[in-house]
Amino acid sequence: MQKRGIKEARLVLKEVYGYSDFRLGQKQVIEQVLQGEDTLAIMPTGSGKSLCYQIPALVSEGITLVISPLISLMKDQVDALAQLGVKGTYINSTLTKKEEMNRLENLAAGVYNLVYVAPERLQHPTFMNSLQKIEISNVAIDEAHCLSEWGHDFRPSYMQIPNWLSTLTKRPTVLALTATATDEVKEDLRKHLQIPVDNVVSTGYKRDNLSLTLFKGVDRPYYLKQLLNQKQGQSGIIYATTRKEVESLYQTILKLGFSVTYYHGGLSEGIRQENQEAFINDQKLIMIATNAFGMGVDKSNVQFIIHYQLPRTIEAYYQEAGRAGRDGEESECILFFSPQDIRTQQFLIEQSEASEERKQQEYGNLQKMVSYCHTELCLQSYILRYFGDEEVSDCGKCNNCLNENEQIERTIEAQKVFSCIKRVRERFGKTIIAQILVGSSNQKLRQFQLEQLPTYGLMKEWTIKELGSFIDYLSAEQYIKPTNSGYPTLQLTNKAINVLKGEEKVYQRIVKIKSEVKIDDEVFEALREKRKELADEQGVAPYLVFSD
Ligand code: ADP
Ligand code: MG
Ligand code: ZN
Repeated sequence: MQKRGIKEARLVLKEVYGYSDFRLGQKQVIEQVLQGEDTLAIMPTGSGKSLCYQIPALVSEGITLVISPLISLMKDQVDALAQLGVKGTYINSTLTKKEEMNRLENLAAGVYNLVYVAPERLQHPTFMNSLQKIEISNVAIDEAHCLSEWGHDFRPSYMQIPNWLSTLTKRPTVLALTATATDEVKEDLRKHLQIPVDNVVSTGYKRDNLSLTLFKGVDRPYYLKQLLNQKQGQSGIIYATTRKEVESLYQTILKLGFSVTYYHGGLSEGIRQENQEAFINDQKLIMIATNAFGMGVDKSNVQFIIHYQLPRTIEAYYQEAGRAGRDGEESECILFFSPQDIRTQQFLIEQSEASEERKQQEYGNLQKMVSYCHTELCLQSYILRYFGDEEVSDCGKCNNCLNENEQIERTIEAQKVFSCIKRVRERFGKTIIAQILVGSSNQKLRQFQLEQLPTYGLMKEWTIKELGSFIDYLSAEQYIKPTNSGYPTLQLTNKAINVLKGEEKVYQRIVKIKSEVKIDDEVFEALREKRKELADEQGVAPYLVFSD
């Protein structure tokens, strides 16, 4: 096989794609792949990971097999390649038997440079037979974090990939690509795919054009309306946790006169496809969805992402938020946080069929997501550090960077919480601690004779909910360490001990809301009328649909 290098790659970049320069990370990844080095590329969403396997496929001889999680997007990807004059195809369950055979024959005849398949295809006898007749020179594994059980999107069929690779007499060059991998996931991927540590290319996680905003404990429906009004004419995604919530939000937003569609795993394949396309083609500007939506969706002009509820992990959050601003335009990512979301997520984890070990991991991940909601640090930096980026500077535009926040001293309240935790010898979790302190008559307390503690009823003026979020805050600030071994319990850290000794004070920061967001209901209604009028005059404005 002829050895080709980065010179040819650069030529393809210019002549096929029409781009003048590689983006950060692309050159190194392509160079490594061309030299036959297995590589793990960790590059943010929108940074151009596809080119990292497409260019080597065009420059080197032989076939590149692209393993990608979503069959619904393969056609678009292959069509886009065809427009550039690149010979690619996909083989998946949407094809007729005849078409599939046809493509397999072409594949054997060496017609294609790139072939897209879902990981499930690697269990398909006909396909595997055809693979035996040809030589695969490169394998690209897109959204590679799906391979790790510790990733937020584990897909068991991804585990077929290492199995399959180990059966090959001549191992192809393997390129795994992902936007989000914690150190744990990174190590897991390296182990399963046998990628040497020196072959990991990570360009960091920073996305300069995203500004992160966090709304804590606000009236969500009201704020959502204000936000949508502010963002009229922009395309955005609103993520909600449950299918039910997605549908009810859809109805609400539709009635408000916005151009909106929705997506969740409970809809038929046909409807999902239709709604997704309507969003991608700008026929509908707002997409309301569960986390089932978005992976691999390359819509460049998404200008905002709203998380109506708390996502389960920081990885999931940043991956979803990262779907804004692929075109490099300034975009906003807004997260609504309310303590009851924690319960919802805990409930969903509890109800899931995951192993006990996996569940404990998930509780831990959720706790980190909650801590994010309580941090006083720059939100962007917080996330970058979470992912292990080393040189991190404040973004200057998240609400922690922007707002002058109010500080309230909470030393005495914190001391009460800590002494209660100490009294029960760190054997109980948040709910019980809160119940003891507010003096709840819950019979569980009686069962453990907890109502006889001196701390019982010490914080009567608080509600369980308020106290629960105060405890979350104290966890976020690392005074308390929740453990998840079996039954979740709260433990004190040295920081808390210092507070109990009176050596350290506790301050709670209250985040203020950006003022320009506030538009009152009347103004909103007036604007809605105005939109209707405009639509009547000019035909349907792009951001308008009528529900009746
Ligand atoms: P990712 O998979 O990393 O999220 P994509 O591969 O979908 O990102 O690329 C995002 C966008 O960036 C695409 O529209 C792509 O054409 C564009 N792009 C990729 N590489 C370059 C480059 N070197 N110069 C300019 N645009 C690029
Ligand atoms: Mg991609
Ligand atoms: Zn910031």
